[in-house]
Amino acid sequence: MAAKTDLGEQVKQMALASGADIVGIASIDRFEHAPPEMHPRGIFSHTRSLVVMGCRMLRGALKTIEEGNYWQAYNCDSYQYINEILAPHMLRKVILFLEDHGYTSVPMHNPFGFHAGRPVRPGGTKPDGGLSLRVIGCAAGLGEMGRSKLFLTPQFGPRQRMYAVLTDAELPADPLIEPGTVCDNCGTCSRACPAGAIPAERTRELPIGQYVYTHSPLDCEKCCVVHVGWDKRFSPFLTDESTPDNPPGYYEFLQARFRHQSICGARGCVRACMDHLEKTGRIEKQYQTPMIEGKQWVIEDADEHA
Ligand code: SF4
Ligand code: SF4
Repeated sequence: MAAKTDLGEQVKQMALASGADIVGIASIDRFEHAPPEMHPRGIFSHTRSLVVMGCRMLRGALKTIEEGNYWQAYNCDSYQYINEILAPHMLRKVILFLEDHGYTSVPMHNPFGFHAGRPVRPGGTKPDGGLSLRVIGCAAGLGEMGRSKLFLTPQFGPRQRMYAVLTDAELPADPLIEPGTVCDNCGTCSRACPAGAIPAERTRELPIGQYVYTHSPLDCEKCCVVHVGWDKRFSPFLTDESTPDNPPGYYEFLQARFRHQSICGARGCVRACMDHLEKTGRIEKQYQTPMIEGKQWVIEDADEHA
């Protein structure tokens, strides 16, 4: 078997060659504070390391929603393509590589269902266990939690989705990122979220290694209504006749074609945050066209347009 340093580097190269934009490694001791139902060993009891990968969402797919012009690229690329095509391929390639070196490894897709059943033995964990892919991103040293509860990296800010491989290989862990390296708690996400779903206070705490990462208690119910397009001020697709039982044909198309319906287009938690991080130089890359130019659009006379 390869030395663990060599194997760690080889696994990372395999992840990058298979579609990951960023990759890091977490050791199992970084989950010592995780509750049993959210612990990697509740899924694969021999887990020693996690290979954690991020795939960026296309900046242009977010920009065309920012311009109010085009929603399909985001719903295709950032949900269906990354989650259902790219990530399963990438996870499988990494796992087959580890298998070929004698290690058993398990993919963590995104999204996945939590805790469907009851323990198969006394004292066992409930299947199917869950993991927070944002927590494992912190544990692999790839980034930190933003106030928004999104995972932020120095490369892309909030603009990636996370995946992981749980493996019995013992691989060298990457150093953690200090909280505050990316998120400066500016509050832009809270102000720009059309649902008012991102509170200011960072009351949720995640102790990992020597650090405690924090984020706000995101109000998922408030978010969901606007996210899927049920606020006329932030959806050009609703009419007076639209109801959940009679949704716009475009919503039905998005669901049928991409199995997702993001209409908010992460206006605050991704687009406004990205804009802040890019304009203040808090992430590594700069781009020709700013994410936000002037004020973000709101359909002020939504009732007249309907
Ligand atoms: S917008 Fe500001 S406060 Fe919100 S997550 Fe981004 S950097 Fe942090
Ligand atoms: S998806 Fe939209 S509504 Fe939900 S938190 Fe992000 S900005 Fe707010």
